[in-house]
Amino acid sequence: MSLLFPALHTASSHTALRFGDRALSYRRLTAVTSGLATRLQTSAPVAVWATPSLETAVAVVAGLLAGVPVVPVNPKSGERELTHIVTDSAPGTVLAEPGAELPEPLGSLLRTDIEISAEPTEEEQTRLLPAEPNAETAALVIYTSGTTGPPKGVVLSRRAIASSLDALEEAWQWTADDVLVHGLPLFHVHGLILGVLGPLRRGGSLRHLGRFSTEGVARELASGGTMLFGVPTMYHRLADACASDPELVRALAGARLLVSGSAALPLHDHDRLTAATGQRVIERYGMTETLMNTSVRPGGTSRPGTVGLPLRDVDVRLVDEAGNRLPAEDTETVGELQVRGPNLFTEYLNRPDATAEAFDGGWFRTGDMATRDADGSVRLVGRKATDLIKSGGYKIGAGEIENVLLSHPGVAEAAVTGEPDDELGERVVAWIVPASAQQPPPAEELTDLVAGQLAPHKRPREVRFLEAMPRNDMGKVLKRELPGQQG
Ligand code: ATP
Ligand code: MG
Repeated sequence: MSLLFPALHTASSHTALRFGDRALSYRRLTAVTSGLATRLQTSAPVAVWATPSLETAVAVVAGLLAGVPVVPVNPKSGERELTHIVTDSAPGTVLAEPGAELPEPLGSLLRTDIEISAEPTEEEQTRLLPAEPNAETAALVIYTSGTTGPPKGVVLSRRAIASSLDALEEAWQWTADDVLVHGLPLFHVHGLILGVLGPLRRGGSLRHLGRFSTEGVARELASGGTMLFGVPTMYHRLADACASDPELVRALAGARLLVSGSAALPLHDHDRLTAATGQRVIERYGMTETLMNTSVRPGGTSRPGTVGLPLRDVDVRLVDEAGNRLPAEDTETVGELQVRGPNLFTEYLNRPDATAEAFDGGWFRTGDMATRDADGSVRLVGRKATDLIKSGGYKIGAGEIENVLLSHPGVAEAAVTGEPDDELGERVVAWIVPASAQQPPPAEELTDLVAGQLAPHKRPREVRFLEAMPRNDMGKVLKRELPGQQG
């Protein structure tokens, strides 16, 4: 395989990374990461205390150069989660910002501080990059978001990372001139692999917001940013803010590419953003295990509500409950999405059983349910485990109903689940965070809205109001944490 980061060999003064008022050119990034990489000559995995900082980006790149598996750790992990990750991945060292306080059991590991001096040192300039390791070696161990169960450690090779990033280069015409803006955390695929390694592989720039804010997005896009990566909750906030912030509207309108992923972008927010800015937010679909599978192409014909066409070298198929492949002409039947390609992970760490179960021949079972449009665009219906409701002989996708509920002005957030029902098997239940806690919309108005737009069996039988929707750090709704749910 060619080098993962060719631009690190150019000694260019082009800005590679900027976090707040701290930036590194490619030349300095090469020096700083090679210096750190030479201190990591170990075969044990290296944990990275993944705060949203320049240090985290440097630590991950150094680990990749050294050829040791890097395990990014969410600094907001609870004690149980942290113990699980440390026990499971058995890191020999933890890399952290100087001064960061590490809780147990990370605190007991050998620690290396990630030091980045403001100015280059004499010694730094003479550093050489170590040779890049084999394409199939474990490069990163990333834990899944834990939406449906305890997070699983996903082992990703350099080959998978390179192939997925290069497929995105083609799909998005991503170049060295692009300046990516994002405020995502750095311990998942979205913020780290796409958001940090993506620009570095292209030789372009990243400007990280530290913490996401609509003002930060407006500022960075207005001053040279060309692309924005975000999760749906961020686009929701941007859509809200457009109503009163003409500078934000101008900045978004001027961006080359707005990309959403990690969860479904509600149609209502997609439409509001298009109305305000003239831009179409590009949806792409991926997983920790598969990196990126599909994307809407800028300028293409995909309609809102689809996650676009398969990326280069990715094969996609739909399989029914009996395990039969659905023909490509079938645009109606919902099946489980399976994928195959060079973008796939190597294995779940220490889980040969789970790894074996996840594959059907060479095809990875995503657990996501979908239909396919006539042009091959994938339409996600939801997850098999939490979003597919079997009611009165019908299979109902929660997302479609959630989209209708979210279009009601009295609804701030919505989730739809199935609950056991003697007569129907399962009944449709809507969970609503009202826009105004004092004046929640009448339940009947909401169920009528659904019945007016969708088939009668999709009408929620019950509406339950909540103060807040349980979500994880990527803004994904945790349906198993809704009151009275299992898991
Ligand atoms: P866990 O596997 O631990 O339950 P998770 O599946 O949320 O958590 P990730 O690998 O981070 O962990 O997320 C992948 C999932 O996110 C996909 O399987 C899919 O359900 C969802 N997803 C990603 N992109 C999109 C998108 N554009 N639209 C809808 N869903 C998406
Ligand atoms: Mg998953």
